[in-house]
Amino acid sequence: MHYAALASGSKGNCHAFCDGERTLLVDAGLSLKQVRLRMEAVGLDHHTVRAVALTHEHSDHIGAVGVMLRNTDWAFLATPETKVVVERIHGIEIPGNRWIPLRAGFAADWCGWRVQPFALPHDAADPVAYRVESNGFNAAVVTDLGHPTALVLDHCRDLDLLVLEANHDVDMLRDGEYPPPLKARILSRVGHLSNVAMAELLASALSPRLKTVVMAHLSEQNNDPELVRVVAAEVLRGWQTTLYLAHQRDPLRLELAMTLAAP
Ligand SMILES: [Zn+2]
Ligand SMILES: [Zn+2]
Repeated sequence: MHYAALASGSKGNCHAFCDGERTLLVDAGLSLKQVRLRMEAVGLDHHTVRAVALTHEHSDHIGAVGVMLRNTDWAFLATPETKVVVERIHGIEIPGNRWIPLRAGFAADWCGWRVQPFALPHDAADPVAYRVESNGFNAAVVTDLGHPTALVLDHCRDLDLLVLEANHDVDMLRDGEYPPPLKARILSRVGHLSNVAMAELLASALSPRLKTVVMAHLSEQNNDPELVRVVAAEVLRGWQTTLYLAHQRDPLRLELAMTLAAP
């Protein structure tokens, strides 16, 4: 299994999982052109993309859905609630033959992969994170959540790869220039994950199996990549876990052959 963070942050999100034959994207917050360019840049064949799993309807996660619908034959995995609001926002209709309905809490079989959406505390219609399992490889993409719930922690166990939000440093956000209502939204129980909350979630996800952690959805204004590294490294101290940071502008591809080979 190969994984790449094609883009991550408030200006657009898209993650790619590829088993060599087929690729599943998580979120469509990056233009179709950039998806193709960035996949090629990290050595993934964009012709292998078959589907996009949507987490929720915020623009940084669905901005390219309309273009992808018109210009590809990709399927869209989404809950009914998310599908409806995405269609309304974009003024489109995702036809039945392009939609794979999901329900939070229920695993779906996608081309032999197990794709498990699970509910997140976030201010959207029906926000989910994804746990993706294929060939004995378990990964989860967990961003856009206000706080770590017991349900989220449960789905972060026994992973090989965890892609986890480290959105903001609370002091940087409080002292920063965002308008007060936006600060309140981000800090709320249904906003975004602070570095401290990230550390709490990461600590409970630790296991000898967890070889790779990717910090994602970092705020460019309200966080500092070096601070994220320090906070996460403190949690990971003593564990054989490699830490990466996903970026907004540059794709990140992990050297998975070494670290993520199926047992
Ligand atoms: Zn987001
Ligand atoms: Zn969001």
